[in-house]
Amino acid sequence: MVEQVRAATRMADSEIPLVVRDLHKSFKDVSVLNGLSLEAHEGDVITLIGASGSGKSTFLRCMNLLEVPDAGDIIVHGEPVAFKQHNKTREPASWKQVERIRSRLAMVFQGFNLWAHMSLIGNVIEAPIHVLGVPRRQARERGMALLERVGLADRADYFPAQLSGGQQQRGAIARALAVDPEVLLFDEPTSALDPELVGDVLAVMRELADEGRTMVVVTHEMDFARDVSSQVIYLHEGRIEEAGAPADVLKKPNSPRLQQFLAPRF
Ligand code: ADP
Ligand code: MG
Repeated sequence: MVEQVRAATRMADSEIPLVVRDLHKSFKDVSVLNGLSLEAHEGDVITLIGASGSGKSTFLRCMNLLEVPDAGDIIVHGEPVAFKQHNKTREPASWKQVERIRSRLAMVFQGFNLWAHMSLIGNVIEAPIHVLGVPRRQARERGMALLERVGLADRADYFPAQLSGGQQQRGAIARALAVDPEVLLFDEPTSALDPELVGDVLAVMRELADEGRTMVVVTHEMDFARDVSSQVIYLHEGRIEEAGAPADVLKKPNSPRLQQFLAPRF
């Protein structure tokens, strides 16, 4: 009976921005992801926490195909990523699809990763023009509005080297938004910043969460995780050790390992 009710209320994959099922990944003989799954529903903010080396970055990088998972499914609003075997290695079946998936799941990295040889606005309009085929004028208009949003309209023509880390990271967020992604992936977006610059970046991320953006965020910012997440996932050695609402996972952790992980952070 319970199962029937669940089945009746279960959403179709096509209604869910991002479904990841049973992802596995090894580097050489070392198994790094051991069956990871998540569902990011519309407006969800899922935070991934865990010790260094637990697989957080690899998990995100698999989602937008910077790494190819050895097994498992990635489904974006019902579109499954297709893989093929090539000389014993698994690779994406279509690079066209990889490009599309990367714009549907836009990623913001720890190290900002703006293109150094392009102005800030150049960075923001690059993918809309060259991947999505948006006319330059329209891309520029939209790009300027996004820079305005992240407080950088007056820096549009600066090059990355002329910007602070916080400004570069807010620029990287504008660039990610420019492709109109269904899900934003963040990999420790504030870890490389001087402490006084962290707040501005987190403020932009909180705004995005407030406006209902679907996000998957790797972070060590526990206040952010507590205030903003719909779900917190704690990874240990490429497995989900504990997951749930922040009030449970962060305040009443069951796993002794997670208790130990959180102790110095609260
Ligand atoms: P986290 O982001 O949680 O710190 P990572 O996903 O970066 O963890 O790394 C998980 C494990 O995978 C680590 O042991 C790391 O050394 C290993 N790893 C990550 N990327 C590679 C790679 N390209 N080649 C070999 N090992 C890797
Ligand atoms: Mg990492």
